[in-house]
Formats: sequence, C-alpha cells, structure tokens
Amino acid sequence: MSKTLYHYIGGRRVEGTSGRFGDVFDPSTGAVSARVPLASAREAAAAVEAAAAAFPAWRDTPPLQRARILFRFKELLDRNLDQLALLVSTEHGKVLSDARGSVVRGLEVVEFACAAPHLLKGSFSENVGREVDSHSMRQPLGVCVGITPFNFPAMVPMWMFPLAIACGNSFVLKISEKVPSTALRLAELLTEAGLPDGVMNVLNGDREAVDALLTHPGVAGVSFVGSTPVAEHVHRIASERGKRVQALGGAKNHMVIMPDADLEQAVDALIGSAYGSAGERCMAISVALAVGDDVADALIQRLRPRVERLRVGPASEADAEMGPLVTREHLERVVSYIDLGVAEGAELVVDGRGLRVESHPNGFFLGGTLFDRVASDMRIYREEIFGPVLAVVRTADFESALKLVNEHEYGNGTAIFTRDGDTARSFASRVQAGMVGINVPIPVPMAYHSFGGWKRSMFGDTHVHGMEGVHFYTRLKTITSRWPTGIRAGADFHMPIMK
Ligand code: NAD
Repeated sequence: MSKTLYHYIGGRRVEGTSGRFGDVFDPSTGAVSARVPLASAREAAAAVEAAAAAFPAWRDTPPLQRARILFRFKELLDRNLDQLALLVSTEHGKVLSDARGSVVRGLEVVEFACAAPHLLKGSFSENVGREVDSHSMRQPLGVCVGITPFNFPAMVPMWMFPLAIACGNSFVLKISEKVPSTALRLAELLTEAGLPDGVMNVLNGDREAVDALLTHPGVAGVSFVGSTPVAEHVHRIASERGKRVQALGGAKNHMVIMPDADLEQAVDALIGSAYGSAGERCMAISVALAVGDDVADALIQRLRPRVERLRVGPASEADAEMGPLVTREHLERVVSYIDLGVAEGAELVVDGRGLRVESHPNGFFLGGTLFDRVASDMRIYREEIFGPVLAVVRTADFESALKLVNEHEYGNGTAIFTRDGDTARSFASRVQAGMVGINVPIPVPMAYHSFGGWKRSMFGDTHVHGMEGVHFYTRLKTITSRWPTGIRAGADFHMPIMK
C-alpha cells in the first residue's frame, strides 16, 4: 500500500474527508509512489478559514519581522536543497540537476521577498496644499490563493507565496495533484522557520477544490499558472466575483534564427531549450523559425545527430539529459501529436516514439523528436504539445518570421539569434510576447524582474514576482491629512483646489 499525502492546514497535516484520491507516480519507474486526497469544497473552506483567522495578526506583524522569518526559510531551503530537488525529480521526472536549478530559481524569489520592508515603503508629499500632506501606502489583500501546474513543483509555488506572505497576506496553495510532495515540504519548512500557523496552507485537489476556492467569498486574490483553457476559466470565475486575478497560461515559444547567427550557439540553445525537462516547460522553445532554406538545412544537419544522441534515462541517473514525461496519459498525448504531425505532412526527421529505457521498461519515456517543414496551418504548429518535440518552420525573411510570432495565439516567451544589433532591437521592440531573449533561448526574468506572457499566455494584467508581484499582492491607499487641527478653513462646496 502506497503512502497517503495529506493537506497542510493551520500548521499541521490534515488527512481530509472527501473520500476521493489521486495516484502520484514515479515517472521513471511508472509505479505509484503515493496517493493524494482530493479536497472537497468543505476542505477548501477549512483552508480559507484557517488563512482568514491568521490574517489579522500577520497583517499587523511589522514587515521586518515577516522578513526575518523569510530569511530563516531561505536558510532552511539552502540546507534542504538536495532533498527538495529529489522530491521534484522523483514526482515530476526531470533530471536532478534541472530539478535543483528550478528550486534555486524559486529560492531567489524568497531572497527578493526578504526585502519586504523596503518593497513596502510608501511615498509622502509634504504640502500638497497649505498645511496639507499626502501619503500613499500599500496594504495586503487578505487571503490569497495560488493554483499551480505539475511542471515546476517548487519554483512556480515560490513565484507566489513568498511575496504574498512578505506583503502581509495569508495564503492557500492548491498544488498540482500530480506532484504534491515538494510544496507540502515547503509548508513544513515555513512552519520550522517560525511562520505562524494558518498563514500558509497547502491543499491537494483537482477542479473541485479550484472551483471552491474561486467562488469562496473569503478569497481576495488568485494567482494561477497552468494551461490556457484553465487559466481563462480561473480568470473569468474569479474576476466575476470581484477578486484580483493573475492567470498565466500555455505557450508556443518561437526562436528566430537569422542567417548571420552563430549557428553552433543556436543549435546548443535549441537542444537545451527544446529538450531540457523533456519539453515540459512553459518557456521551452518548441518552434525554430529558420530564416532562409540555407539556415534551415544547416540547422537540421546539426540538430539531427544531437537529437538522436540525447541521453534519455531515469531522473536519478547522473548523466541523463532528459527524463520521462510526467504521466502515461501525458506521454500518450504527446505521442498522439507526433502521429498527427506525420498525418499533417510535416517531415519527421527524428522520431522519439517507442523509445525503451532497458533499466526502466515501465517509465514514461519518449525520445527527442524533430520535425522539419512544419507549416503554420498545422495543428502541431498551432497547439501547445508540452513534450520533447521541436518543429522547424522555414521562413523567407525577418519580416515573415516576426509576423508568424506575432500572429500566434500564444505570446509567452520568444528569442532571436543574430549578430545584428538593428535586427535584434527591431525584434525586441515589435514582437508580441511578454519575455524576449536576444541570443538567450530561455529568457526567464530574475526574481526582481517580473514573469508573464502576452496574448493567450496570460489573463490579467500584473505579472508575477518583482515589483509587479508586490503590486499584485497589495493595494494602494492614499491619505490626505491636514495638521494642525486648529486651522479653520470654512466650508467649501467646490472640488478642493490649491489656492
Ligand atoms: P493544468 O491547467 O492542467 O493544471 C493547472 C492547475 O489547475 C492544477 O493545479 C490543476 O489541478 C488545476 N486544474 C486542472 N484542470 C482544471 C479545471 N478544469 N478546472 C479548475 N482547475 C483545474 O496544467 P498542467 O498540465 O498542470 O501544467 C502544464 C501547463 O501549464 C502547460 O500548458 C504550461 O504551458 C503551463 N504553464 C505555464 C506557465 C507560465 O508561466 N505561463 C508556467 C508553467 C506551466
């Protein structure tokens, strides 16, 4: 019998009473490693109530004291980095070095959030009128909710809760039911760091829990990261109820390779960004836009042997470059897209289907896959596949490449490889995407900048972490005051103006 993972509500593990469970897999072996209770509306309400009860005291805790707890949390993250990376890797399937990197990128948001006293400093204007002063301050929203995807079990939750709690909110995190262990451990570490019970709660569950949280009147703000259809649903339901929402969705990230690019550098970049984490990254490059047939031919010639030689193996294997996909269901979905690409007439250059890893015959493995001559009306071009499948699209020139990027429904990240400053600048200025790399394939902004896409890659207008994150988790209040009280101005019946 596999172990059962619990919810984390009010500072302790809570078994749950819904009677519904999901299986958690080790994707490298294909075996069930645990089962996870799927919360009902009642349990979602219990988590919101725990957060609401903790909120007033936490809001009134001085930001410096909140930051001290986050400092201790950061130290605990450093100390537990190997264990956290292992949890990510065994439930998600990404190789250990990649898992470690993802935990570190989350940790960097904690480091940023440690600056809470500075980040929350308001502004003050003396004498906006005679003897009248004005100051602005940012205050927390109340109970905030985070809903996260399977592909970054530590990093994406840490895009949200460190800053939310640094700003004085309490938090309910509804993690992906496919990868629950890491965030549960993060919540325990927060308690160990001294966070008062109820400020951070973790709920396991699926759509039922999400809908209960979105419609709960006690929830003030919702951060979501996941697929576009669900992001759109979350944004609509939560905004209709007057909640603040940021909902980040899916992606189809294009990399433009210009004829003057350093081709070896571009090929290295494509291999890492298309096949790293088995393509299960929202910033993965899934389309290579080759400008000119010469560039396309040269790319294919170099990519083919590299993709064929990718070392695919269990996440724990030290020299594996790519692990398995997260579930058998997801593997089958990605395979069905490769079948579709063949049926649509794209040229299958490297076929990853049917790959067997001898030591792990039941793992959810798929080899790296490469298509050439993909056309913009094909579904394998238009839709997000979220696997190790790279599509090469041949374009005539820079303008037609830019047009393709801009016409795509997604606009998360994009990149251009060129040696020409004019072209790079024009691309950065005119491209319709939230994050742009110039000779950088995965331009994930650092914690003190903000992460988010455009078009149907994001619903809502405030990106995550950085100052946009601080603004998302706080609201502005502006106070106008007159001292001394002895002044008699008389009654005014017109809009106050400065005389
Ligand atoms: P998903 O949309 O299936 O699930 C995300 C979360 O929503 C999970 O917690 C899940 O339990 C919940 N959920 C699933 N279906 C739901 C429904 N019908 N109603 C309410 N809640 C529901 O996404 P996923 O498969 O876990 O993650 C992969 C997706 O996330 C990809 O599309 C990827 O591009 C996207 N993603 C985007 C970013 C970004 O920053 N834009 C980052 C990481 C992942």
